[in-house]
Amino acid sequence: MEHIPAQIAQIHERIAASARRAGRRPEEITLVAVSKTHGPDVIRAALAAGITDLGENRVQEAAPKIAALATCHPRPRWHLIGHLQRNKARTAAELFDIVQSVDSLRLAEILDRHAAEIGRRLPILLQVNVSGEVSKEGFALAGGIANRAAYDLLYTDLERIVALPQLEVRGLMTIAPMMDDPEAARPIFRMLRELRDDLAHRLPHTCWDDLSMGMSNDFEGAIAEGATIVRVGRAIFGARP
Ligand SMILES: *Cc1c(COP(=O)(O)O)cnc(C)c1O
Repeated sequence: MEHIPAQIAQIHERIAASARRAGRRPEEITLVAVSKTHGPDVIRAALAAGITDLGENRVQEAAPKIAALATCHPRPRWHLIGHLQRNKARTAAELFDIVQSVDSLRLAEILDRHAAEIGRRLPILLQVNVSGEVSKEGFALAGGIANRAAYDLLYTDLERIVALPQLEVRGLMTIAPMMDDPEAARPIFRMLRELRDDLAHRLPHTCWDDLSMGMSNDFEGAIAEGATIVRVGRAIFGARP
């Protein structure tokens, strides 16, 4: 736990250096500290070191942590980054500031309905699987926008999602496959950015600003390709148990 402030400072430096190399401003990039498997004391140490955004991938695991840290000032923003089961959608809509892992029209419709009942607008990202890796959740778009047939299907769903009144689409999220050479993930990130650029053109009334891509092993390449949100766990908190 005593290493956390130094690790966070180092990640911020690496984010800033990657941004400058790409001709971008470091402030364009939000660091989400992925706190899954870690308890409130560890998370408090990260908040004390300036972390503002936290990522969790399971609703049940996150709920007690969000409650335990509810009185923190300033209050952290909580991002749901893991697959969301429909029967947990209501709790997710109540607890999270943003759901990054919306991966079907059906889930979007359920979240929209719950958000209406709760009386809020819920920011979301659409998770897209551009790598084609079978283990990854997300709308299927292996190969990106060059995959015309898959893109047509996805587009039909997206037109309906952006029309849902209680959801606020802010962009896209993806998970790159684990690779030995972190640079090897760059084509995956580029495909997500190209998809975003195309959607911004075709659906201009929706905000497509955010690209959530890059984790501990590959966030620098993701920033080079346009990431606005990086999700970093192990490089901040150490290996997970
Ligand atoms: C766990 C997780 C991360 C963080 O991964 P690290 O390798 O620990 O940085 C990022 N995104 C998602 C969706 C995750 O599940």
